[in-house]
Amino acid sequence: MDDFITLTIGKKKNIALIAHDGKKAELIQWCQNHKSILEKHFLCGTGTTARMITDKTGLPVRGYNSGPLGGDQQIGAKIVEGKVDFVVFFSDPLTAQPHDPDVKALMRIAQVYDIPMAVNKASADFMITSIYMEKEYDHDVINFHKNIKERSETL
Ligand code: PGA
Repeated sequence: MDDFITLTIGKKKNIALIAHDGKKAELIQWCQNHKSILEKHFLCGTGTTARMITDKTGLPVRGYNSGPLGGDQQIGAKIVEGKVDFVVFFSDPLTAQPHDPDVKALMRIAQVYDIPMAVNKASADFMITSIYMEKEYDHDVINFHKNIKERSETL
C-alpha cells in the first residue's frame, strides 16, 4: 500500500466561505468582486456568513451552524469526507474568538488534507484567479487506510 493516495479537486469546486465578524463586510465585498467566478462553483459557509453573502450578493451559499456553535467543525468534517475542497476564511487577527480551538482545528485539517485555504484578501485573490480554478487538480493526501493498518498492527 502506498503512503499517499492521489485525490482530485474537481473543475467545479466545493468552496467554504467563513468570516469573523470584523471581516464579514470585507468577505462580502470580495464575493461581489469575484461573483462571476464564484457562481460556477458550489458554495457553503458558516451560518451568519453564508446568510449575509446570499442576502447581499444573491450567490447561493449553503449555511452550516454559526462558527461559535460548531460551524467551523462541520466544515472541517466535510474536508475529511472530501466534500469541501477549497476554503476562504477571513479570520480576524486582532480580536479574541471564543471558538479559537475550532479555528485552529479547521486550519490543521485543511493542512492534513492539502486543501487550498486563503486566510486574507490577498491570498484569496491569488487563489481565485489561479489557473486551477478552471481545471482539475490532482494532489497527494496521506493514505489513511495504510495509516490505520500500520498503527493497528504496531501499537
Ligand atoms: P458565522 O461564523 O458566519 O456564523 O458568524 C463565523 C465565525 O465566527 O467563525
